[in-house]
Amino acid sequence: MILIDGKKIASELRDDLKKEVSELKKKFNKVPGLTVILIGDLTPSQIYVRNKEKSANEVGLKSEVIKYPDNVEEKIVLNKIKELNKDDTVSGILVQLPLPKHIDKQKVIETITPDKDVDGFHPMNVGNLSSGYDSSVPCTPLGCYLLIKKIEPNLSGKKAVVVGRSNLNGKPMAQLLLKENCTVTITHSKTSDLKGECLKGDIIVAAVGIPELVKGDWVKKNAIVIDVGINKTEKGIVGDVDFDEVSKVAKALTPVPGGVGPMTIACLLKNTIECFKRNEVSVD
Ligand code: NAP
Repeated sequence: MILIDGKKIASELRDDLKKEVSELKKKFNKVPGLTVILIGDLTPSQIYVRNKEKSANEVGLKSEVIKYPDNVEEKIVLNKIKELNKDDTVSGILVQLPLPKHIDKQKVIETITPDKDVDGFHPMNVGNLSSGYDSSVPCTPLGCYLLIKKIEPNLSGKKAVVVGRSNLNGKPMAQLLLKENCTVTITHSKTSDLKGECLKGDIIVAAVGIPELVKGDWVKKNAIVIDVGINKTEKGIVGDVDFDEVSKVAKALTPVPGGVGPMTIACLLKNTIECFKRNEVSVD
């Protein structure tokens, strides 16, 4: 069984991105910039944002974090986003989720110009992805996609089963696999025979949030299994896949932690660079 080492693959991706940033600097005499807006003092969000900033700096991006207190007015945040939309030193804008209740998440997402939407959440990017056009793609499914391609470069004709249909993970994941000519099944909490559906998959991506939901006898021999889940349990952090059982049948499997997680931030950096390139080429 191949243990898919997300840490190593993410580190290789960051090395490539670092080289690309230095070439872009030579060509355009500026570097891509990532601005993150952080509202409130929720500890996990603070940790995510700190890691994003650190990784951005490591690959040579210009990075900035704008912090607001929990009770900031919505219009202050929206006006700041509008200002950043016009700032040509900013290639990518990310508003760290979750937001306080009084701030409308969808309004925030739709205020970020699609050209700088490094999270790929803007309806324009969602539409472009589902139409098979060039777009920003949400970072976690993009990371999963790159891991799958490392194991199996030609996905055409494969059966893929995506467990979970969130806008963040399941749906964009399914679109990416469809674009690669997989036959894709999207499953969810109302799916009547989840085990039966999973058993058909040459590829399974589990993004559910239920500890060790996917069992060994749900998985076809030699399937590629990607575990997006991050669940805190008494025995520590576990994924949505029963690692011990599934590792006995799968051809390749991501561990939790150390699988998908490290790819998410690396893909955020990749998306920032892609936004920069699209924006610079469009003003050429
Ligand atoms: P989410 O928005 O809560 O969506 C969960 C999905 O799972 C929903 O579509 C839900 O179906 C489905 N589901 C729930 N119970 C199910 C069941 N018994 N059988 C089949 N499907 C079921 O979650 P998310 O944001 O996509 O996150 C999923 C997991 O990924 C979480 O553990 C999260 O912490 C983790 N995550 C990891 C990363 C990373 O970087 N590794 C990034 C983001 C999230 P319905 O639509 O029918 O409700």
